[in-house]
Amino acid sequence: MDHFEYRGGVLHAEDVPLPLIAAEVGTPVYVYSRATLTRHARVFRDALKVLPRVHLAFAVKSNPNLAVLKVLAAEGYGADVVSAGEMDRALAAGIPAADVVFSGVGKTAAEMRRALAAGCGQFNLESEEEGAELAEIAGGMGLVATATLRINPDVDAGTHAKISTGKAENKFGVPYDRAAGIYARLSGLPGLNLRGLALHIGSQLAKLDPLEAAFTKAGALMHAIRADGFAVTHMDLGGGVGVPYRAGEVFPQPAEYAAMLARVTQGWDATLMFEPGRVITGNTGVLLTEVVRVKQGALHPWVVVDAAMNDLARPAMYDAWHDFSAVTPRGTMMTANIVGPICESSDTFAMAREIDTVARGDLAVFRTAGAYGATMANTYNSRPMVPEVMVDGAKWAVVADRIEPSTILSAERVPAWLA
Ligand SMILES: *Cc1c(COP(=O)(O)O)cnc(C)c1O
Repeated sequence: MDHFEYRGGVLHAEDVPLPLIAAEVGTPVYVYSRATLTRHARVFRDALKVLPRVHLAFAVKSNPNLAVLKVLAAEGYGADVVSAGEMDRALAAGIPAADVVFSGVGKTAAEMRRALAAGCGQFNLESEEEGAELAEIAGGMGLVATATLRINPDVDAGTHAKISTGKAENKFGVPYDRAAGIYARLSGLPGLNLRGLALHIGSQLAKLDPLEAAFTKAGALMHAIRADGFAVTHMDLGGGVGVPYRAGEVFPQPAEYAAMLARVTQGWDATLMFEPGRVITGNTGVLLTEVVRVKQGALHPWVVVDAAMNDLARPAMYDAWHDFSAVTPRGTMMTANIVGPICESSDTFAMAREIDTVARGDLAVFRTAGAYGATMANTYNSRPMVPEVMVDGAKWAVVADRIEPSTILSAERVPAWLA
């Protein structure tokens, strides 16, 4: 459920008509609904209340906007970060360092030092090598790093290959059958407080079965490690719950996810940690765009919009579908290809799609663009960095400026020997 609805034939974000935002900020622009964000954060959090001890760490990479993080901090979410930059954002939003989980396969020594100095709550180690390095750095600082060991459960998440992370051939975590040995060796290191296991098998999961299979394997490993005499008090079960991108698609509900967790983790006696991203932010945003022109095509017309793959990369990267709706529908439909202005054929949002009839100058939205949208934006083709707006009832504000190509140009230098 979201708060992007038609009123009097005009698409609104909560109480704000989208043409107003387009007129004042320009297009393309991401528009987030605070009510939708809060609602998703609460539904997920409340569903997991059937579990005894839970720690929620929002996956910052899905939407790192400071205003978004502020809302989630107020809802009691910690943060799952994958870089020092993301950690800085989480801290700037007021998320306590103790509630920050640092994930990622390539944490640098400098990032480890900074996170330790800030009081980062947990490092999710991706390898034995990383654990040894972290232990040494923490020891050198007179600190003990709290950590879990990420395992690769070798389970097929059944999602797009580029967002599948839990198969043996993926770069993430340590191999399942070597994990107990690595856990034992890392547990012996001063400078490291290894307290559990972590896993994350992929994103945009349409079914709970792969998660259940992975959690079951993780539980068995947890018991084996305890039987070896090592403590396992925390189990970080990652993120990955998918969301519907097409009207009519059915995805697992948070309550079903929670029921599965209650069944699988029964008797674990561990704090369960979660790193939800898309399920919290996916539905909370749309990308508002204007039709530049409609060009005649061989088979179907080309609807050229002013948003492009640099603003919303998912279709180009993952063949992803985003529903497309006119802001002021005319009541008729057309079959068209929707493309952006970038000089790449992959700058295509949809082919042969049945859409609201649109013409030059019309506004439209790509829906479900709140996760992995603005966060992946870039300035390819020397386009501006796309801005972001948050709506809250009848209030709205720009929460990220459009960064103009001139600003980026001003950061470039011509060396004296070329002048
Ligand atoms: C990306 C990521 C997440 C969030 O995934 P979603 O599918 O958005 O829930 C959580 N944990 C880790 C380690 C990740 O890399």
